[in-house]
Amino acid sequence: MAKNILANVNRCVGCWTCSLSCKQAYGLADDEYRVFIRTIGGGQIDTPGGKWPNLYMKWMPIYTKKCIGCAGNAATGGVPYCVFNCPTDALVYGDSDDPESAYSKTLAELKSEEFRVYQLDPWEEPRDGVFYAEKGI
Ligand code: SF4
Ligand code: SF4
Repeated sequence: MAKNILANVNRCVGCWTCSLSCKQAYGLADDEYRVFIRTIGGGQIDTPGGKWPNLYMKWMPIYTKKCIGCAGNAATGGVPYCVFNCPTDALVYGDSDDPESAYSKTLAELKSEEFRVYQLDPWEEPRDGVFYAEKGI
């Protein structure tokens, strides 16, 4: 049984709620993050890349090795705090070996819609079991 997280990059709005809910749940120090948000754009947080009017910007939650791969608590229904609190349902969690899990069903749905599914390169030292789905951005 492998519990994975799927991040739909098209739905992520860069709000940091996932990151902050983890920090709140675990009482992390101000400068400690188990998941942080990367802006893909102009090189700084929340800045677009490109030249007007052809600007682009998107966000990705980056799970570090500090993430303990938790399953939240009873109040979150066994879903990690970061996933449970995402306001746009960009994050989905579940057993990749169970075709009926939220993870597997969402992955199949996005693949059928021709989303590209990928993981971060190993040199980024990401947490295991995190996948990204993205289409046309
Ligand atoms: S994954 Fe969800 S909670 Fe995290 S930054 Fe994106 S939209 Fe916000
Ligand atoms: S899975 Fe748990 S420990 Fe990891 S970032 Fe999410 S809330 Fe934090």
